[in-house]
Amino acid sequence: MNVIVLGAGPTGLTTALLLARAGSRVIVLERDSAPPPTNGHPWTDWARPGVNQFRQPHIALPRWHQVMDAELPDAVEALLTLGGVRSNLLHLYPAELTGGWQEGDERFHTVTARRPVLEAAVASVAEAEPGVQILRGRRATGLLLDRGRVVGVRTQTDTLTADLVVDASGHRTPVPGWLAAYGLGPAEQRSTESLTYYTRHSRAGSPAPAGTGGALTHHESYSVLTLPSDDNCRGLAIIVGSGDRTVRTLREPAVWEAALRASGIDERWLEGPPLGDVQPLAGLQDIVRDYAPNGVPVVEGLVAVGDAWATNSPFLGRGLSLGALSAVALRDAVVESGSGSGDSRSERSPAARYAGLLDERLVPYLVSTIDFGRHRVAEMRAQAAGEVYHTSDPAWAGSSALAAGARTDPVLLRAHSMIASLLATPAEVFADPEIRAHVGPWLGYPLCPPDRPGRAALLDAISRTSTPARPDPNTNIFERTLT
Ligand SMILES: Cc1cc2nc3c(=O)[nH]c(=O)nc-3n(C[C@H](O)[C@H](O)[C@H](O)COP(=O)(O)OP(=O)(O)OC[C@H]3O[C@@H](n4cnc5c(N)ncnc54)[C@H](O)[C@@H]3O)c2cc1C
Repeated sequence: MNVIVLGAGPTGLTTALLLARAGSRVIVLERDSAPPPTNGHPWTDWARPGVNQFRQPHIALPRWHQVMDAELPDAVEALLTLGGVRSNLLHLYPAELTGGWQEGDERFHTVTARRPVLEAAVASVAEAEPGVQILRGRRATGLLLDRGRVVGVRTQTDTLTADLVVDASGHRTPVPGWLAAYGLGPAEQRSTESLTYYTRHSRAGSPAPAGTGGALTHHESYSVLTLPSDDNCRGLAIIVGSGDRTVRTLREPAVWEAALRASGIDERWLEGPPLGDVQPLAGLQDIVRDYAPNGVPVVEGLVAVGDAWATNSPFLGRGLSLGALSAVALRDAVVESGSGSGDSRSERSPAARYAGLLDERLVPYLVSTIDFGRHRVAEMRAQAAGEVYHTSDPAWAGSSALAAGARTDPVLLRAHSMIASLLATPAEVFADPEIRAHVGPWLGYPLCPPDRPGRAALLDAISRTSTPARPDPNTNIFERTLT
């Protein structure tokens, strides 16, 4: 097949490699012009305005590692060569919680790095792949349709035809807008609430500490990410609901550091000089685009992978893994459907087969990810308002009980880590009678334990360290005082 992939992010590159190795000729169009630097470092010397989370903290979950090791081991090797760090997600927790190393714990291994480093590694393998051509600085501007089928892509300068167009252009994909002009388009759903990250990376003289606790810790009204990374770097973030305006001074370095200390973070995470300012990123919404409602593609010749298909709860760190899984599903669909021709009524069209594989393999993970994120964002909002979050959803009760029990029970910590690593869905974990027996006593316990520093400690740190707001000279002083 001749395939055009829109976007040279991690999922677009993974898709291109998998399809090329299955026999397709693949052109990748990337709107950003700069390739990964050959003289310089991806973190400092690579401009990627097309990806607004490029310098936000990323962890490659064990599931990403498992998929890439099986499908593209040379990409994992390239990541290690660029400084990717080996980490075990379970053994980030202290030994008294894990109960020490047990047979099978190797499933929680991963190799991870800062996002630019990770992407540079996959790009280096894709650039060298004979069946892949990456055209950087070539923005797609529209689709070519012929009798209801996508047959190619317009760019600023020309048109390119293809048997299959793959949208890997990320969460801000322009493709639904292009299709709307033809009266087509995916069924799109967006979450009503969103998250804000306050992020900073730093580099210390030694690797990020292990044994201090999990990568993601939930507190009353906020969450904290502590991610080990390449080259002795750490990625740290405080995550709040985007509506939580009281905490906006977290963008000030002194406030951000004080807030992290108030959260009880191990001091070693704060070692080393920062790699830049605190980077806020707001309005992070969940988005799902269904290109085949009821299994029938809205248009043939076009599929969406990675964030262009579904973007969700970034704090769970699942985007890269779901992107890689969607790329594998697409490769399998293309291989199974033979020549790749077909119309929407044919079971064997790649788009129809791909939709089926997404339903089978990815949707269960997607649904549980969205469910958790939806509840957690609502809980953060309630906690910021001084309220207790109530829901009758048993899935949330189960997640909270599992998290609570995992704080003392190594069996539950492993079950929890299976979900956190994207190695199992909650439904698969709770199907095990042993897990159900262990989790039972914890039902009714909250996600954030009452003894963990909460909202009061956060607000206290903020009020102690924030630069006092200067009065806005345009505001009427009497109105300002009265409101
Ligand atoms: C704050 C934050 C933290 C995150 N943390 C994690 C984490 O810890 N772990 C994890 O696994 N995931 C994480 N994610 C999610 C992860 O970043 C995404 O899932 C991942 O980037 C998706 O890759 P992608 O290739 O699908 O899309 P992108 O990385 O967005 O790449 C899309 C590419 O398409 C290009 N493009 C766009 N429009 C066009 C066009 N018209 N023509 C040509 N090219 C175009 C863009 O320039 C870009 O290069 C996080 C996300 C956010 C927002």
